[in-house]
Amino acid sequence: MVCQNVPVRPPDPGSAGHSPGEQSRSQRHQWLEEGPHQVAPGVHRIPLPLPMDGLRAVNAYAIEASDGLVMIDSGWLLDETEATLKRSLARMGAGLGDIRSFLVTHIHRDHFTQAIALRRTFGMKVALGIEERHSLHALLSRDPGALSTRAMRLISAGAHPLIEKMVQAGMQPPTPDDGYEEPDEWITSGQSFDLGTRTLEAIATPGHTRGHVVFADHAAGLLFAGDHVLPHITPSISLEAAPTDLPLHDYIESLRLVRQMPDLTLLPAHGPVAPSVHARVDELLDHHDARLRIMSAVLADGPVTAYQVALAVKWTSRERNLVDLDLINQVLAIGETQAHLDLLVARGQATATVAEDSIRYYQLSG
Ligand SMILES: [Zn+2]
Repeated sequence: MVCQNVPVRPPDPGSAGHSPGEQSRSQRHQWLEEGPHQVAPGVHRIPLPLPMDGLRAVNAYAIEASDGLVMIDSGWLLDETEATLKRSLARMGAGLGDIRSFLVTHIHRDHFTQAIALRRTFGMKVALGIEERHSLHALLSRDPGALSTRAMRLISAGAHPLIEKMVQAGMQPPTPDDGYEEPDEWITSGQSFDLGTRTLEAIATPGHTRGHVVFADHAAGLLFAGDHVLPHITPSISLEAAPTDLPLHDYIESLRLVRQMPDLTLLPAHGPVAPSVHARVDELLDHHDARLRIMSAVLADGPVTAYQVALAVKWTSRERNLVDLDLINQVLAIGETQAHLDLLVARGQATATVAEDSIRYYQLSG
């Protein structure tokens, strides 16, 4: 019943972003303008439309290879996406048939599903990080009667009112009909892709999803970051059919991993190109540290459920209450809260007990 792969990001925490007014609205939305936009010699950013307001667009990147184009990410399976991609490529003197392969950063439908659809017509290769196989297989074998992972997580959060609202709103989990199929190739970390014109290294960055990968062009100083590092918003954690136990731990480790590499230009999947991966990673690490502190302060009044913690803290740069967010963002906020609380438990700063009704209660250690 739930929406594991809806690509709306959780409420922008704003701790690391821009204060309102720092950038004018038009500047902030400039990146949405139809492409292609050359961001480096032979590399073109192509914004593609999304059907939800929150996120507005996803960037695919067309890279000139020796025998055609290699694309990083593909957009959401929509007629409008295909038409926009076609128009943008035409301005480069190319067509959909020139795409030799899609290297996909992760399984979310705004990145993966258009590639699968185009493969049916044009036969190009589609590659996806190997750890996405868990969620992909969960999606492809979905028992329609079974409770989704997300629903079970909401139950353990004590967020029953939200489950009811989601049922009333008719929210459905993604199905194979949404365009999910096996990729041609599973990408492993460290794998390199020789495009003839440049070499890309795939680096596993689990967290946003467990099989997320980024692609580094070390020679040109570029990082195709997918949703791992985004310039304006904080990526959601573990919004997927088969998440790991400690997705926030994975995410923070993956942020540290790219922080240890030489600094690169950030080519994100949502938002404009930014000069420094390191600068944004530092902001994201600070944000999660602050959220861990704020949430552990709420546990002092424990035992409390993740739902109660989410109700007690503020969301988005506008400091909104949970109940003032739209339904999807409330669900994402619960997931974020759980990820933070579970990390506090793993670090020994909090304890969790599961009651008979499957609800998990957290309190401070000691
Ligand atoms: Zn995503």
